[in-house]
Amino acid sequence: MDLRLFKNIVILTGAGISAESGIRTFRDQNGLWEEHRIEDVATPEAFAQNPALVQRFYNLRRAQLKDPNLQPNAAHKALAQLEEIWEGNFLLVTQNVDNLHRRAGSKNLLHMHGRLDRIFCQFCDEKVDWTEDLLTQHPCPSCGRLGMRPDIVWFGEMPYHMEEIYAALDKADYFISIGTSGQVYPAAGFVQLAWKAKKIEINMKDTGISAAFDSHLVGPATVEVPRFIQNFLTN
Ligand code: NAD
Repeated sequence: MDLRLFKNIVILTGAGISAESGIRTFRDQNGLWEEHRIEDVATPEAFAQNPALVQRFYNLRRAQLKDPNLQPNAAHKALAQLEEIWEGNFLLVTQNVDNLHRRAGSKNLLHMHGRLDRIFCQFCDEKVDWTEDLLTQHPCPSCGRLGMRPDIVWFGEMPYHMEEIYAALDKADYFISIGTSGQVYPAAGFVQLAWKAKKIEINMKDTGISAAFDSHLVGPATVEVPRFIQNFLTN
């Protein structure tokens, strides 16, 4: 493969890439995320109705990030290495809200569904890096009002960075989707928007959108991603 043909790579990751680090996906447990129905913890309506439950859910997820056993795995690291040596344009878009890509060293990284380690004020939009628990009613360090919530894009809200992502997909000549079920839009539609790209899907199994890809690597991300990148760079 002549790599000079591929100047623009876009990579999309989902919960599957972090599964082997110890963070559970949700569709692999019949639509439950850590024993909760997604609509009970990941919608603005859930937050309005039961803020204590929602804050507790994200407090537990945020606390998990401090567990010394939680580390970036071989797939996160391989993507960071690819970015380091890649001479063309490289964009990593993640649906994940954990911090494992960043800890592995990825730089040109967009968290389209937000970040567990950041909170924002619903009144003044102030964003603050945050590693501790958040109270049901937490004062904003900027405006002082009780409006801080997790900086998570909930179902029904607009994902972040969409203009930048769409522009990169339009130019992409290589698109790789890793560990995502292809059920959450708009991310599930990215493969269609990467219209001129060669498209590879890496997953433990077929997904609802597998037919849109040119090829598939079936297996755990920690095995398939480093192997794919190694082959990609040496062929
Ligand atoms: P999903 O749970 O819907 O699907 C996970 C996918 O990963 C499945 O297709 C599964 O077959 C695959 N998978 C599981 N283990 C794998 C492995 N070891 N190697 C390769 N593939 C593997 O996840 P999604 O498509 O990312 O959508 C879920 C949404 O929930 C995301 O948008 C995200 O915001 C949120 N979420 C995030 C995290 C996280 O930050 N780590 C975890 C759970 C859910």
